[in-house]
Amino acid sequence: MKELLRSMGLSDRVIELGEKYEAELKPRFEELDRIAEYNHLKVIKAMQDNGVSETFFAGTTGYGYNDAGREAIEAVYASVFKTEDALVRPQIMCGTHALAVALSANVRPGDEILSPVGKPYDTLEQVIGITPATGSLAEYGVTYAQVDLLPDGGFDLDGIRKAINERTALVTIQRSKGYATRPTLSVERIGELIAFIRGIKPEVTIMVDNCYGEFVQTREPSEVGADMCVGSLIKNPGGGLVATGGYIVGTSKCIEKCAARLACPGLGKEVGATLGINQSIFQGLFMAPVVAIGAVKGAIFAARIYEDLGLPVIPNGTEPRYDIIQAVTLGTPERLIAFCEGIQAAAPVDSFVRPEPSPMPGYSSDVIMAAGTFVQGSSIELSADGPLEEPYAVYFQGGLTWYHAKLGILMSLQKILDKKLI
Ligand SMILES: *Cc1c(COP(=O)(O)O)cnc(C)c1O
Repeated sequence: MKELLRSMGLSDRVIELGEKYEAELKPRFEELDRIAEYNHLKVIKAMQDNGVSETFFAGTTGYGYNDAGREAIEAVYASVFKTEDALVRPQIMCGTHALAVALSANVRPGDEILSPVGKPYDTLEQVIGITPATGSLAEYGVTYAQVDLLPDGGFDLDGIRKAINERTALVTIQRSKGYATRPTLSVERIGELIAFIRGIKPEVTIMVDNCYGEFVQTREPSEVGADMCVGSLIKNPGGGLVATGGYIVGTSKCIEKCAARLACPGLGKEVGATLGINQSIFQGLFMAPVVAIGAVKGAIFAARIYEDLGLPVIPNGTEPRYDIIQAVTLGTPERLIAFCEGIQAAAPVDSFVRPEPSPMPGYSSDVIMAAGTFVQGSSIELSADGPLEEPYAVYFQGGLTWYHAKLGILMSLQKILDKKLI
């Protein structure tokens, strides 16, 4: 093993550090394996209960009427997330699109959307119209209200009570911190927040942005009162195998509206050719619980290594995990670049490419990104990025296997040490 690792560019010092932390984390990893096993069995049972058959792997073309595979996929998703219905489609282009469909389908002109957990994910600013954009919900007369989390990360219950009014039609709750510094919400805390909101306005529609959170715990937000959970198939629930798509799971009422918005009124769920993608959606969901937990292991491993080197990490190496994202504050642009070079060098695809900081739409400074992925932009695969500005934090996530995540993290440290930056 050592010889192979040396031939891939790791020094004995880094190899030994890796062995040390892996041994230390063994009990924690065993607990995580139990979550993976539980969720894996949950998915297998859902596939059995819904009679998944090889005949479902054939794709449809044209209108896609009577696509038994597509219907079974949606039944399996509904079983796994314990909801009445689901919309799982390759025609949903990404997570942002799934969220835009779920939001716009479930509000009407004059309604208000409330985020009780602070600013939503960057790309939703234009969907909602927080940042003006063509076609935003603001253009349709839908307003937006926001209540920030308290400085200690708690819910501002008084602020939320005051913000809910007769126009409040939809509450959006983002589970993962995404690229913000607030804590990620556990399913239990989301449940408490939902119960509080329902106590004030029982009939309000509650949507959870579930991106990066799927299968990290044994329950999903749809089991604690959310009307809809929404995410991307090139993140956790696709298990790395799905080439494109998104999902919305929830009540029949909400999903019917989402289908009318994604397709059109009158057609709804009945149309949508699957072009041969069904098999990968089934198999990806089958793998997803194991893949997501491998990514969590990688995140914890990185947190332990970098916190012991004296760098701030969010979350730290011992706190519980509710999503797959790890932030490391590297402190200098040189370390940020070296970190990303290491992640790239460890990739199975494009390992020979050297990532370089460059301008990105929506960012005021250059951004560096590392990803050698099988599916473009797939962030369940090992990937890292960060803006070239104070405090030079890198956000990284994914890894289709724990072994690959480990290699990437050790390689990131190796590049930092090679350049004598620590
Ligand atoms: C990734 C992500 C999104 C948007 O998904 P895309 O697939 O990139 O459009 C939305 N919310 C959160 C929390 C995410 O992590």
